[in-house]
Amino acid sequence: MAKKVFAEPYRIKVVEPIEMTTQEERHQYIKDAGYNTFLINSKQVYIDLLTDSGTSAMSDNQWSGLMIGDEAYAGSENWFALEKAVKEIYGFKYVTPTHQGRGAENLLSTIMITPDTYVPGNMYFTTTRFHQEHNGATFVDIIIDEAHDSAARHPFKGNVDLSKLQNLIDKVGADKIPYVSLAVTVNMAGGQPVSMENMRQVKELCNKHNISVMFDATRCVENAYFIQEREAGYTNKSIKEIVKEMFSYADGCTMSGKKDCLVNIGGFLAMNDEELYRKSCELVVVYEGMPSYGGMAGRDMEAMARGIYEMVDDDYIEHRIKQVRYLGEKLIEAGVPVVEPIGGHAVFLDARRFLSHIPQEQFPAQALAAAVYLDSGVRCMERGIVSAGRKKDTGENYMPKLELVRVTIPRRVYTLSHMDVVAESIINVFRNRDKIKGMKLVYEAPQLRFFTARFEPLEPWKEWEGTI
Ligand SMILES: *Cc1c(COP(=O)(O)O)cnc(C)c1O
Repeated sequence: MAKKVFAEPYRIKVVEPIEMTTQEERHQYIKDAGYNTFLINSKQVYIDLLTDSGTSAMSDNQWSGLMIGDEAYAGSENWFALEKAVKEIYGFKYVTPTHQGRGAENLLSTIMITPDTYVPGNMYFTTTRFHQEHNGATFVDIIIDEAHDSAARHPFKGNVDLSKLQNLIDKVGADKIPYVSLAVTVNMAGGQPVSMENMRQVKELCNKHNISVMFDATRCVENAYFIQEREAGYTNKSIKEIVKEMFSYADGCTMSGKKDCLVNIGGFLAMNDEELYRKSCELVVVYEGMPSYGGMAGRDMEAMARGIYEMVDDDYIEHRIKQVRYLGEKLIEAGVPVVEPIGGHAVFLDARRFLSHIPQEQFPAQALAAAVYLDSGVRCMERGIVSAGRKKDTGENYMPKLELVRVTIPRRVYTLSHMDVVAESIINVFRNRDKIKGMKLVYEAPQLRFFTARFEPLEPWKEWEGTI
C-alpha cells in the first residue's frame, strides 16, 4: 500500500536561521531592487525559492569530502574521483570539468557550431541558447506543441516532436545541424520530462542522418524519476539504471553540477568522441583552467563526486519530486493556475491566467514575482517575456507563449512546513490579484537581461494585507 504521509529522508544536523521582514520593509526592498527579485539581497528574503541552482544542502558525507580537498594545480586526487563518478553514473568515455553548466555550453558550442547553422532543441534555455547564437547558430524549437500550453496534461511534456525535427532536416540539410540539444528535464516548459522512448527515437533519427545528440543533463535524475513513475517497463528499475540508459542515447552532455549533483558550484562536459574531447581540453585551459580542475577547487570536485552518487538514491529523488508536487497540489486545490503536470524542480505559476488583466508587454510574470515577495518575503522568479529577451536579428522581444513565475525548490533545504507557508502566501496574492498592475522596463542589459533588468509599476498597486 502506498504511504499517505511522507517525510524528509534526512535529519537536520546544522541549522541556518532565517529572518522575517515586515510588509513595510519589503515595500522598500522591492522598490530598491527595481521590482526584480534577482536584485533583492538574500538577507531580505524569508524563504528563498529563486532557484535550485547552487542552493542545495550538502550531506555530512559531502562536507567531510571538502576536508580532503587536494589543491594541487594539476592531477588532483579529487579530479580522479570526479572523473570516475561521471564515467560510472553517466557512462561517457571522456569528461572535461568546468566551473558550472554554461562553461560546458561555451566549450560545446564553440567547438561544434559553425556560422549559419541550426541547433534544434526541446525549448530554449537562456544560457544555452545564448552560447548557440553567439557562435552563429539559429535555435529551432522542436518540442511538442503541448509544452507551450500550461494546461495540457501530457506525462512527457518535454518530448521532441519528431516530425518537427525531420522537417528541419529536410529543409536545411543534416550538414547544417551540428547537433540536437536535448534537455532532460525541460526547465522553461515547467521542469517537464522526456520519455525514454522519445530519447531512443531522437537518437535513431539522428543516427540515420549522422547528427550528434547532446543532452543538457542538468536535471537528468529528476527526469529519471518521472520515467520510473510513468513509463511502461521502468517501474522496477532503479534510478541509477534509468539514468545510465538515458545517456546511452546521447553522444555527450553538458551538466550544471549546481542542480542535480547537489553542490554549490561545478559542472562538466562529457562525451564519447575522442576528437571532441581533445578539442575541449585545448579550449578549457583558455576559459576555465587545466583539464583536471576546470575552474573548480579540489574540494569542490570531491563534493561533486560524492553528490553524483547521492543524487541517484531512490529515496532521495522520490522525496524531492513529491515535495515539489505537495506544493503544487495545494495551489491547484485553491484554484491557482499553475503549469500541469507539476514538474521536477519547481511549481510554475501561469501569470497569463493569474493576472489576466495585465497584457504580456506589461510583464505580468515580473509583477507577480514581485507581488509574492511583497506578500510574505518568499522569493521566486520570472520566466516569461523578460527571460526570453530580444531576437538577435531584429531586436524585437520574443513573445513566449508561456508567461510564468517559477517557484523553485532547492534540494534538501526546506521542509513541508515551509511549503505550507509558501502556498498560503501565493493563495493570498491570488485573492488580491486585481490590486496588482503592469510594469514598465526602465533598464535592460543587451543579453540575458532578466538578471539585472529594472522595472517600475505603470500605476500604483492597491495595498493588501500580507500573510507575514
Ligand atoms: C542552470 C541551467 C544551465 C546553466 O548552468 P549554470 O550552472 O547555471 O551555468 C543550463 N541548462 C539548464 C536547463 C539549466 O537549468
